[in-house]
Amino acid sequence: ATPTAVMVATGVGANNGVLIKGGDALERAQMVKYVVFDKTGTLTQGRATVSSVKVFTGMERGDFLTLVASAEASSEHPLAKAIVDYAQHFHFFVEPSAMKDSKSPRKESKFSGWLLDVLDFSAIPGRGVQCFIHGKRVLVGNRKLLTESGVTISTEAENFMVELEESAKTGILVAYDETLIGVLGVADPLKREASVVIEGLTKMGVRPVMVTGDNLRTALAVAKEVGIEDVRAEVMPAGKADVIRSFQKDGSIVAMVGDGINDSPALAAADVGMAIGAGTDIAIEAADYVLMRNNLEDVITAIDLSRKTFSRIR
Ligand code: ADP
Ligand code: MG
Repeated sequence: ATPTAVMVATGVGANNGVLIKGGDALERAQMVKYVVFDKTGTLTQGRATVSSVKVFTGMERGDFLTLVASAEASSEHPLAKAIVDYAQHFHFFVEPSAMKDSKSPRKESKFSGWLLDVLDFSAIPGRGVQCFIHGKRVLVGNRKLLTESGVTISTEAENFMVELEESAKTGILVAYDETLIGVLGVADPLKREASVVIEGLTKMGVRPVMVTGDNLRTALAVAKEVGIEDVRAEVMPAGKADVIRSFQKDGSIVAMVGDGINDSPALAAADVGMAIGAGTDIAIEAADYVLMRNNLEDVITAIDLSRKTFSRIR
């Protein structure tokens, strides 16, 4: 293609909200054989909401939610945000006593008044959070977090986790004072266009793959819903880049679509990195393409544009 053709294609992309960082990226997209999708915030809306709460001890629901929200308040993870929002809603709008004794709860700043004091907060990547409340250790996260911290997961809790995961939800375990006290289920619906895009890519001869830090059972349930057969779950952030490299081994051209800080090593490792426009700045910087409309259909737009510009339709 002539430089003019590349310039025109870049302009056409920009008009459609597909920002292309250079002619090389534009050229590579036509040859893409695999498109690796991050799950949370890429295939899904990234608008997680708490769908169920189970408390195993005699603890009040409101107290349980306050404890969990206090532990998650310093985390930037989308799951943490979902939990804090839910607890805040419960505290201010559901639990009647909270409405009575507070002067004007709705005017209070988000974290004042109702959250508990937290000491020694730490976020553990791919696992969850740990902190101390009332002198006792609080853990909020996945099985790995609890097991590695020496907390036993009861059969009751495990059964509930499986039930959540089989319905595409993420189960979050909560331990207080070295005892498992409850489980939260968080749902994150698929983007509306996700299934159509996966079908479209498959028809174009491109193989879709899902990669996620979430557990295998949830990942498989989501993958089934969206129509992806190749799933890599429980992958740590650095591992996402390894997944990309494993597909590149035989010389295949690989695209990665992601939105998170977690995804930036993989976006950089991919031949064609595509960041969701609503994603984090670090992901956008690491990518060759930015999909400004946050619509997965633009993955197809990008590949089509490249194929047409270089007119090497396979
Ligand atoms: P993803 O690729 O889905 O963004 P992450 O690597 O961020 O995954 O997290 C993997 C898993 O670790 C999550 O599915 C969740 O089970 C657990 N986790 C991570 N951070 C948190 C948190 N702040 N609160 C609860 N669980 C968490
Ligand atoms: Mg993500």
